[in-house]
Amino acid sequence: MSTDSTEPEELSASRNFIQQIVDADLAPGNSTKEVHTRFPPEPNGYLHIGHAKSICLNYGLADEYDGKFNLRFDDTNPTKEEQEFVDSIIEDVRWLGADWEDRLYFASDYFDQLYQWAEKLILQGQAFVCDLSVDEMREHRGTLTEPGRNSPHRDRTPEENLDLFRRMKGGEFAEGERTLRAKIDMSSSNINLRDPVLYRIKHAYHHRTENKWCIYPSYDFTHGQSDSIEGITYSICTLEFENHRPLYDWLLDALGIHHPRQIEFARLNLTYAVMSKRKLLQLVNEGHVTGWDDPRMLTLCGLRRRGYTPASIRALCARIGVAKVNSTIDMAWLEDAVRSDLNEQAPRAMAVLNPLKVIIENYPSDTVEQLPAANHPQKPEFGVREVPFSREIYVEREDFMEEAPRKFFRLSVGREVRLRYAYLITCTDVVKDDSGNVVELRCTYDPATKGGNAPDGRKVKGTIHWVSAPHAADLEVRLYDHLFQTEAPEQGPEGGGFLDNLNPNSLTCLPSAKGEPTLAEADPATHFQFERNGYFFTDPVASQPGKPVFNRTATLRDTWAKLTRKK
Ligand code: ATP
Ligand code: MG
Repeated sequence: MSTDSTEPEELSASRNFIQQIVDADLAPGNSTKEVHTRFPPEPNGYLHIGHAKSICLNYGLADEYDGKFNLRFDDTNPTKEEQEFVDSIIEDVRWLGADWEDRLYFASDYFDQLYQWAEKLILQGQAFVCDLSVDEMREHRGTLTEPGRNSPHRDRTPEENLDLFRRMKGGEFAEGERTLRAKIDMSSSNINLRDPVLYRIKHAYHHRTENKWCIYPSYDFTHGQSDSIEGITYSICTLEFENHRPLYDWLLDALGIHHPRQIEFARLNLTYAVMSKRKLLQLVNEGHVTGWDDPRMLTLCGLRRRGYTPASIRALCARIGVAKVNSTIDMAWLEDAVRSDLNEQAPRAMAVLNPLKVIIENYPSDTVEQLPAANHPQKPEFGVREVPFSREIYVEREDFMEEAPRKFFRLSVGREVRLRYAYLITCTDVVKDDSGNVVELRCTYDPATKGGNAPDGRKVKGTIHWVSAPHAADLEVRLYDHLFQTEAPEQGPEGGGFLDNLNPNSLTCLPSAKGEPTLAEADPATHFQFERNGYFFTDPVASQPGKPVFNRTATLRDTWAKLTRKK
């Protein structure tokens, strides 16, 4: 792992800064009595690993303090939102293990209330209907260093504003013709306070309210009020909302309604990944990946299909902790988290990804032995299975080398290796095709070494995996590498964009892999450790009965490296 990534917070015994705030707020005598959080996604895409951080944080706090957690869709943008996204988000949040009980909400359910509040602001002289176009409004807004200018419509009377706003709602005007804006301060140093837009005209169908509305509240007019309606006590947001907090405060105060406490935290960023939904959508729409659930995507459904477990993602989120400063976490942490989890729970099996046939010349051709193999080397409770052994086996092509260096402790003519759970074999010859490629090995075995130990105590350093050829299951195996080949893919090369950083070798399909016979019947969505090859998961989408497709979830920390590779 690179050394510039954030240190795990778990190393410090202290509680994170949000827990410290909550601890102090809940002290006797204070007005805060309950922790009530929410996860507020916009249903305009699938959830990714960054959202998992927010879900774990919000749900984790509610759970820890015996409070409540809501799932609420901030569905204010009818043109970008779809039921498909709503359904996928519900599935993913549930999969992660966050429980909203019966509190599933939609901001669109509050559209009536939000409309009433908009009228209230108008009557209080705190909102006005503006006729400036988008471009004119941008021109009036000013810059970070220059104040903005007042809209010429800012001084309309409440009566006139109310009339115009009702006519906006009634569908009298075209899109972009008018907006409702808060009347705050065009010279504020915070641009969010320069008379922000509260309502826009959009003659668009909404996936829940259908054609009821042709004006829609802005995200900023919806988000804080929705939290307030739900009685949220902690509105936890990512850092970019820090600048919006004064606006949310202004609106809640102007309306005189319940005021959640907003706390901002740093987004999760990972190396070799893009996290913005817009970019993920582009990857899907332009066919750079096979879909939102492509196992190379860091969406929750992609990770799930790859074989990631909810526990591993929760463990990652716990490990990275919560901070106020943006940082980028090394992708290796994610892989490490799933490895740790699967190491505990994945039964072991043998599969040969790139098969090379081996004939054991002195093994009887009519004999098949069933050899015991532990399903988990450290966990006897996983039991023992029987693996067939016969005269013809497959080994991994890379476990043979014709011109092998001295320290290559695997197969080469004249060298002896251990077949895991079976015998010691010695390579005696190679068979080549017309073009000189090695297509088969000839070996002999030592019948006195059953189980893999030599009675004379001779040392055999290398141990390799294998499968019996006549019994082997046909498998398709898919190996994955990072989808992007640079650590910070958002920074495209000079003049290019993130797509220029796509890794052309992110997927390797091995359609002719061989496995132990029982793997042919492996259920979809099952985890295995294929010895020496990594953690694998039967792809729930691509697998066919009798022809499973195995996704490699993660490589192994190769515990046999010392024995077999001596790098
Ligand atoms: P994107 O920037 O990818 O489009 P978003 O922030 O617009 O995502 P939302 O649906 O608004 O997506 O996000 C729901 C919640 O998840 C928000 O509270 C947001 O702050 C949080 N969130 C989004 N991305 C991350 C991330 N990378 N790390 C932590 N929290 C995140
Ligand atoms: Mg957002």
